[in-house]
Amino acid sequence: MREIQHFISGKANAGHSGRHGDVYDPNTGKVQAKVTLGGEKEVADAVAAAKKAFPSWAASNPQRRARVMFEWKRLIEANIDEMAKLLSSEHGKVVADSRGDIQRGLEVVEFACGIPHLQKGEYTEGAGPGIDVYSMRQPLGVCAGITPFNFPAMIPCWMSAVAIACGNTFVLKPSEKDPSVPVRLAELFLEAGGPEGVLNVVHGDKQAVDAILTHPDVKAVSFVGSSDIAQYVYSTGAAHGKRVQAMGGAKNHGVILPDADMDQAVKDIVGAAYGSAGERCMALPVAVTVGKKTGDEFVERMMDAAKALKVGHSTDADAHYGPVVSAAHRQRIEDYIQMGVDEGADLKLDGRGLKLQGSEDGYFIGPSLFDNVKAGMKSYQDEIFGPVLQVMRAETLEEAAALPSNHQYGNGVAIFTQNGRAAREFAQQVNVGMVGVNVPIPVPVSYHTFGGWKRSAFGDTNQHGPEGVKFWTKIKTVTQRWPEGEQEDSSFIIPTMR
Ligand code: NAD
Repeated sequence: MREIQHFISGKANAGHSGRHGDVYDPNTGKVQAKVTLGGEKEVADAVAAAKKAFPSWAASNPQRRARVMFEWKRLIEANIDEMAKLLSSEHGKVVADSRGDIQRGLEVVEFACGIPHLQKGEYTEGAGPGIDVYSMRQPLGVCAGITPFNFPAMIPCWMSAVAIACGNTFVLKPSEKDPSVPVRLAELFLEAGGPEGVLNVVHGDKQAVDAILTHPDVKAVSFVGSSDIAQYVYSTGAAHGKRVQAMGGAKNHGVILPDADMDQAVKDIVGAAYGSAGERCMALPVAVTVGKKTGDEFVERMMDAAKALKVGHSTDADAHYGPVVSAAHRQRIEDYIQMGVDEGADLKLDGRGLKLQGSEDGYFIGPSLFDNVKAGMKSYQDEIFGPVLQVMRAETLEEAAALPSNHQYGNGVAIFTQNGRAAREFAQQVNVGMVGVNVPIPVPVSYHTFGGWKRSAFGDTNQHGPEGVKFWTKIKTVTQRWPEGEQEDSSFIIPTMR
């Protein structure tokens, strides 16, 4: 059986732990590969490789680092089809969606190609008599990224491309559920001219994560995953003196006003709620309709749209979405559907128990739709992360907007309307980090920045864009003068500029 190994110092590495995890094909429910699970020793080896590679990589000029990024981008593009198939076979998302996952990662590599400009410092001439002040952004050293299963290409690129372009070296700990594509990305980085040890991959579970969080040579950690673990990573990493950003779970709302273009809203929301089987942190699992007429029309049309969806094998080009990632996750989703029923929401469409002919053991689940979901329900308060749309009814925009604003998560939110003033006010007031106006999944482009609020993110610096460069560098400010002639007397007063 195929064994997926660590990638340390430019080479496949079997590790020492003797521990392995199963990598499933969610289409069939069968184990398709074994992944080596590392711990303290493997993390120590990867950190040592990254530490060794750091001085010369950090000292290389930014244009040289950009050239490696350009070549990495070219190689990812050249291998996108092969990687998309591999990604689909481990994650279960359809191949076209896997291409999108890789493409969004590629766009961050493209952003990182601009590092000579992005990392430039600032300069003030004549801040005082004969005094100039300049600041520079220097890399931190060995950095680490810990990533979730649901975007095994995009999220590793969010972190590693920007960190490495800034002159850091990197240890990536991808999800053990779909670990192959992150290794492919590291192999391609090496092929692109990235020196050995600059990008390393260590597979593993909590043991590897804890080893990263406590290793004294790891200077910064970026995490994306569920909120309880994000909070744990944030507090443990910070307690060990590291810079940490930790993105967590989500429950994104789409507010539909009576003047919305209903055709468009239904088309947008059916894709955002059920695409990738709802396993996206920017999925749209809650629709809040304003007014009875809007609500009735939305539910009726969404029912038709959801019933028309084709759930299929991840290689089926006609399928709208594939299986979820694991049997345990499917069970969890089905338990939440039962919870919604028990809490009194109206289950209008029940996706449980779906069996695909010929793939009876695959982790498939059909689309589900609830109407009349209430804010007090636990099935609403928690993230389900599956193909389940919950419709809530509001009488006014204020009542509707209060729902995402008061929710524990604050990743994304969308409003559907033709009223510019209402949309503008909503975007300004809502207590959520990323907002879409007639855009159902407002994932910002790579040169802006990605991050939610409340329990969707711990730490205060976002992913990629200028915020990414800020996270992966430390600023140093130099105040200089070159006095000539008579020496000044000592001064015991704090220097001021008059
Ligand atoms: P997860 O939290 O289970 O795993 C994330 C990472 O943490 C993995 O690398 C995993 O190996 C590691 N991990 C798991 N258990 C751990 C433990 N007890 N201690 C330390 N590390 C541990 O998340 P997942 O199921 O892989 O991904 C889905 C979650 O990620 C969802 O909640 C989703 O909303 C969230 N997510 C958030 C964003 C965002 O940007 N906010 C993006 C994508 C996914």
